[in-house]
Amino acid sequence: MKPEVIIIGRPNVGKSTLFNRLVGKKLALVDDQPGVTRDRRMGDAEVAGMTFTVVDTAGWEDEDPDTLPGRMRMQTEVSIEGADAAMFVIDARAGLTPLDEEIARWLREQEVPVVLVANKAEGKAGEAGVYESYSLGLGEPVPLSAEHGEGIADLFGALWPIIGTKSEAAEEAAKFAASEGEETPLGPLKLAIVGRPNAGKSTLINRLLGEDRLLTGPEAGITRDSIAIDWKWTDPKAGPDDPGEREIRLIDTAGMRKKRNVTEKLEKLSVADARRAVDFAEVVVLLLDATQGLEHQDLKIADMVLQEGRALMIAINKWDIAENPSSLFNGIRGALDDGLAQVRGLPLFAVSAKTGKGLDDMLRAAFEIRESWSKRVPTAALNRWFDDAMEANPPPAPGGRRIKLRYITQAGTRPPRFVVFGTRLESLPTSYERYLVNSIRKHLGFDAVPVRVVLKSPK
Ligand code: GDP
Ligand code: GDP
Repeated sequence: MKPEVIIIGRPNVGKSTLFNRLVGKKLALVDDQPGVTRDRRMGDAEVAGMTFTVVDTAGWEDEDPDTLPGRMRMQTEVSIEGADAAMFVIDARAGLTPLDEEIARWLREQEVPVVLVANKAEGKAGEAGVYESYSLGLGEPVPLSAEHGEGIADLFGALWPIIGTKSEAAEEAAKFAASEGEETPLGPLKLAIVGRPNAGKSTLINRLLGEDRLLTGPEAGITRDSIAIDWKWTDPKAGPDDPGEREIRLIDTAGMRKKRNVTEKLEKLSVADARRAVDFAEVVVLLLDATQGLEHQDLKIADMVLQEGRALMIAINKWDIAENPSSLFNGIRGALDDGLAQVRGLPLFAVSAKTGKGLDDMLRAAFEIRESWSKRVPTAALNRWFDDAMEANPPPAPGGRRIKLRYITQAGTRPPRFVVFGTRLESLPTSYERYLVNSIRKHLGFDAVPVRVVLKSPK
């Protein structure tokens, strides 16, 4: 059962406007004339993924502060009995009226939890009314502009403790929404270099660190666990006001397992090593060997990294000894796009661990890709994109009944996760899901980042 929230307030405070805002349709009649009589309306509302039924009452329709018409009041009383919460709306621009005070008095005697909403609070004109409304004894008001859609996040915050647990489909989204504005500094870039044996991982790490820390070469024969090495990379292309120092925590996996004689086992180990590195890493560089090209094993590692939701980059190493470099590059580009259908256009770099070629560009890109991997799209921008995407390519109508996708919210970052709410989702073809994912990636700046989309029907 969906929680039910009832909207109460004297005429003209903006109840219908709020109802429309929450339900997302121009259903209710909005009129400047006070006292326009309406029927009680119900609708499915969603705020940041939290779903509930909203009820707009026609109660309290009398402008005379001294009388409360019994018929109207009874209707409101009936509505409130089944409600899980009440939103009591006042007009912050007009300030409190005796009728507001009377409704407040009545509400304080009811059992239903009340959220006080100070509507029309956009701009400065509503400030005094917001403060005045504390005197109603209904707790802290939520300043809102139903007309302009401002303050909806705060409304969510006020409703969540009351009805949130009943709306568990949105729990993840809610947690995420609650963290909005919390700037989590990204810290050192956690970077792992993975790849098949002999791709040049140890050589590359030595090159980056500028010291001969790891044993390389066919004779090495040592086994190590993955360890983290903290160091500072200086970006030579940093702007004039930026010293360019970037902190990196390099995850040094045991690619470093130099048991060259057991090739088959080694192949398996390189996947196991990569898996372990991925646990620690934000960005993973899959190192290829220019003399070997892209092999099945590489795709397997790449696929695992993406499955785990990490940002992935590909670097073709040993570029100093590559033959036919341009056809090699294009061949690998094409094979990646074909082999990893879930992410097109992965960042691809030609590097040489031996000469240092391409390494600064690769590291700069690693920082950039982490930014998008950690990025949060504001809900408004997200739904603007969503509406466009629905219009450009509406969901299909299998059996003549259209699948409705109504709303999207970002439920997390690192990797970016989204929840799409709609109905008849079980009939949505995977091709359409793919369309959504690709469009998110393309239009919201998540190129080459694994993006998760979950579909949910309101319970
Ligand atoms: P209700 O019938 O009492 O619930 O109120 P309505 O939703 O019909 O709104 C009454 C009037 O207030 C309409 O002219 C709305 O356009 C206006 N209104 C509603 N919300 C806002 C708001 O947030 N800011 C401003 N400035 N006007 C609003
Ligand atoms: P790992 O098993 O992935 O750690 O690979 P190593 O770092 O041990 O390198 C394997 C072999 O490739 C060694 O002989 C390296 O000297 C060689 N190698 C690594 N990077 C390069 C490179 O950029 N160019 C060339 N020509 N050889 C490289």
